[in-house]
Parts: sequence; structure tokens; C-alpha cells
Amino acid sequence: MKIARFVKDGKSTLGFVVDEEIIPFDALEGMPKWLEYPLEREENIRRLERKMDLSGIKGYPLKDVRLQSPLLYPGKIVCLGLNFKDHAKEQGKEPSNRLIIFMKPRTALTGPYDTVFVPKFVEKLDYEGELAIVIGRRGKNVPAEGAERYILGYTIMNDVSARDIQFGDRQWTRGKGLDGFAPIGPWIVTKDEIRDHRNLRIRTWLNEELRQDGNTSNMVFDVPKIIEELSRVMTLEPGDIISTGTPAGVGIFAKPEPKLIKDGDVVRIEIENIGFIENRFRFT
Ligand code: MG
Repeated sequence: MKIARFVKDGKSTLGFVVDEEIIPFDALEGMPKWLEYPLEREENIRRLERKMDLSGIKGYPLKDVRLQSPLLYPGKIVCLGLNFKDHAKEQGKEPSNRLIIFMKPRTALTGPYDTVFVPKFVEKLDYEGELAIVIGRRGKNVPAEGAERYILGYTIMNDVSARDIQFGDRQWTRGKGLDGFAPIGPWIVTKDEIRDHRNLRIRTWLNEELRQDGNTSNMVFDVPKIIEELSRVMTLEPGDIISTGTPAGVGIFAKPEPKLIKDGDVVRIEIENIGFIENRFRFT
């Protein structure tokens, strides 16, 4: 299933994406009606695991709705640093044998096709195309073997980064935590529809130029290992987002000179089996 959040007639709700339509949860028997935090609640995710018959139910054309972040109030957004061997290499670093993590505030979340407004004090704006895990079950000390039980599905995130702030601060919270610096979506694809999370192509375009062409097979910590390591230190909860790091090809390390995001530029990130997100950036 593909689960998306959308706005229609001024109302925000969740729905299933089927072909070119979106079927609101409200249209289905036994599904939660409009709740404030649907996917962030365990009982709502359990409902999604029941077999659902969507045949014959009329939805809205996708083109007539505005998609939002599928999650509005995740308990945490954890991001991984240096988790792709090729990305470590492009900056002259060894892949880390430690899980390097940082967090983004939820105010960084924005919709898959929204414009991102960037304050003018940001000097070096960069993109990072990433596969994000959405947690579906509460867990602590989860072993890698069986870790997939704790996953609801996968989505795409752009780990937008102000490199001048990130490198100046020597830690990442401020430079990667600005409002709108986590475009996400376009939907959550449930894990049963992901063929192989260890072999997904990730591509990022800056305007027309293909800048990242990586694969999750290049990860240092793969998805089950990430869950094992992370759940040793923090309880994972339904709706939590874990962004798994970016492959080579970010703007700041481009040769012979950086290729950063300028006012009006568009960044498109596509991940096999999921779809794409595409955001324009405006400096204000
Ligand atoms: Mg990143």
C-alpha cells in the first residue's frame, strides 16, 4: 500500500494511493476518521495491517490534491551521517564503524512538492537524497534479525543542509534543522511492496543535472542493523522517521567546484519502488 497525507477542500487527511487516485481513510469501513495524529499511534498502524478491499471505492484524482508530509508529528526524526561508503570516500573519509546520528526537528518537515523558503543568511545550500524508514511498532533492543517487523514502510527524504552553518558549527543540528529542511514523501510505501531494501537505486537531480546515482547496497549499516543499533539507545515508536544517509554526489564535494542550490533551483529525488519528490528552493 501507499499511504499519503493530503489536503482537499482545506482538510488534511490520510489516504491510500491507488494508481492515479487517492482514497481517503474516511471512505473505508473500520478506519480511523480524522484523528490528529493517525500514523503516530500504534493502534492506527495495527489497523493498516488488516487486509483491506479497496476495489470499487472512488478516490480523488491525485492531481487535484496537495500532498503533505505523510507524518506531521513524528516522535523523532533521526538521520544518519556517513552511512554510504561512496559518500565517505568523496570527502576523503573512511566509512565509520560507529553509527553516526543526528536529529532534525519536526518543523523541518515539508511536503513532497512544496516550495522550501530559505533564509538569506544561508550561504551554501545543499541537497542529500535519502531513503527514510518509517517505524510501525514500538521497540527497544531490537535484534537485526527480525527488525523488519518494526517497520511500517519507506519513503524519500531530502536531508537539506546549509553547509556553511554545518561546517562552521562542527555539529549538524542547526545547519540541517531549519524549517523546511526535510522535504518528505510523496507517500509511505509499506514494506511488503519494497522488493529489496538492500538494492534500491537513489537518484538526485539539481535542475536538469543528475547529481547522485547511488544504491542502498552501498550502505555501511543496512536497514536491520540501523534498527538494532539505534534501538539500543532509544525506544523506537510508531511514526518515527529514520533517514538512512546519502550516497555520493552531494553539491559541496563536486569537482572542480561545488554545485550548490541557488534561488529558484529545483531538486528532484527518485527512489526505485517508491516514487519521487521535487522541491523548488527560494531564498527569502
Ligand atoms: Mg544526510
